[in-house]
Amino acid sequence: MKFLVIGSGGREHALVWKLVQSPHVTQLWCAPGNAGIQQERTNKTGKPVECVNIGAEELAKLLAFAQEKKIDLTVVGPDNPLALGMVDLFQKNGLRIWGPNQKAAQFESSKVFSQNFMEKYGMPTARAGTFSVAGPAKAFAASLDGKCAVKADGLALGKGVLICTGVAEANKAIDEILVSKAFGSAGANIVIQEFLEGMEISLHALCDGKTAKLFPTSQDHKRALDGDRGLNTGGMGTYSPTPFLSDGELKKVGDAILKPWLRGCVEEKIDFHGILYPGLMLTKTGPKVLEFNARFGDPETQVYLTRLENDLVELLDASVDGTLGKMELKWSTQASVCVVMASGGYPGNYPKGKPILGLAEVAKLPNTKVFHAGTALKDRQVVTNGGRVLGVTALGKDLKATQSAAYEAVEKICFEGVQFRRDIAAKALR
Ligand code: AMP
Repeated sequence: MKFLVIGSGGREHALVWKLVQSPHVTQLWCAPGNAGIQQERTNKTGKPVECVNIGAEELAKLLAFAQEKKIDLTVVGPDNPLALGMVDLFQKNGLRIWGPNQKAAQFESSKVFSQNFMEKYGMPTARAGTFSVAGPAKAFAASLDGKCAVKADGLALGKGVLICTGVAEANKAIDEILVSKAFGSAGANIVIQEFLEGMEISLHALCDGKTAKLFPTSQDHKRALDGDRGLNTGGMGTYSPTPFLSDGELKKVGDAILKPWLRGCVEEKIDFHGILYPGLMLTKTGPKVLEFNARFGDPETQVYLTRLENDLVELLDASVDGTLGKMELKWSTQASVCVVMASGGYPGNYPKGKPILGLAEVAKLPNTKVFHAGTALKDRQVVTNGGRVLGVTALGKDLKATQSAAYEAVEKICFEGVQFRRDIAAKALR
């Protein structure tokens, strides 16, 4: 089968890495890809993966490319093409594609939609209200003493959530989004949630329209600096599994979220094929969903796919075809840790084009894989080309040993201005 993967981050490198291991894959393209993806080869035919210079949101060009190459399955990594209706477009043109259609992708592209859905179908979530004018929004925030999360409805490059600790701050956040239009039309409506305290973890479930199969837990580290300080980022590292939910608790939480979610999807005629990724807060009064994403988390993919023992092609096929009920997800009992190496300045401005040294040495280490995110090839040298540059991922017998292995690899890699967190997985080891 011929595959096309859409995207250019660590998530897409991990997807490509796992796909090329499958005997079902004869040839694979990635649009637009990165320097690491370009170095992969299919196990079956030895053909190099080809990166195609088409952006993930250039839907018409991607469609023409998939038609020309007679792609058997297109795999969509990022949220934007899903929200733009890439799946609908491909299906309308008779092409097989993996990911939720535009209506289903609303779980991520509209926080108002998600919040209303959660409340309608009795899913565990924060106390919340949805607003389009500032007055009632401020009154609701005041009823929470201003301790709340003010969220722009639409996609806002991961920046649309403002955490507030008091009334003045909440009023400012509401004005910024609803009055000053800081996020443009993405902020025409907002969700205000009560501020929840607790341990935040990621859940993922693979869905086929009727069935949802829950993954083990993982935990991302969203803030730029150690100790969860600094600015919010797209994720500075992950590990899996987490010790915060036993298998029994995970099953209970999974059921509490996924059963009403599936029922709601049937009632609302939402045909969801792809990954549902709820962000979850483990509060004193039980686990609560903060938000949904409708695709793999970027650093989460890297730890999940290193632990996944199934053939990924078979899982994606089942997710597309609605036959997931017959499949069993198989996970290594080993732990996985991914440390993100980022450009100096990220998530603010950062330079590009810095040569990355040490990759060849790390490639020789056992049970370690460096997934590329923001990289490019320049005169045959791998250089930085984004904020998050690499996801250095190790698999090992337990979390402690794996954390050490990941950092041992990180220490061997350098580029000018590099920054990374030194406490990935530390919460689990306390
Ligand atoms: P979201 O995009 O909705 O997940 O929000 C981004 C980040 O903001 C989350 O990963 C949480 O760390 C934080 N956050 C969102 N909602 C809440 C909430 N209700 N209480 C506390 N923190 C929140």
